[in-house]
Amino acid sequence: MVLPYDSSEITALGAQARAGLDLAERRCPRCGHVGMRRYYKIFEGPARTSLITYLWCPSCHGYDGSTVSGAGMTLDHDPMAELDPAELRVLKADLESYFAKLDALWESGKLPQHLTE
Ligand SMILES: [Zn+2]
Repeated sequence: MVLPYDSSEITALGAQARAGLDLAERRCPRCGHVGMRRYYKIFEGPARTSLITYLWCPSCHGYDGSTVSGAGMTLDHDPMAELDPAELRVLKADLESYFAKLDALWESGKLPQHLTE
């Protein structure tokens, strides 16, 4: 079941990030699985560029999505952008499939990405 983290879970994840833990060391605040995953997307809008970040647990599919200004940021690659647009639309309509696809990309080595600020 894909469900966003609640505010206390996001706080717990933020504390692990501030403590300097790598994604692989971070513990899911919902199910206790160690090893979180992350996907970045840079969205070039008409007025501004945004960086969208998904952080998720591969075990329970708890996730957090956040958006910040992406001005000046670049990604080495975006494997989701290489998908057929029709396939991407289907995935986006069903978060369970979307995160299953992200997991498959992670396991095949196409994720994680490298973000340059
Ligand atoms: Zn979990």
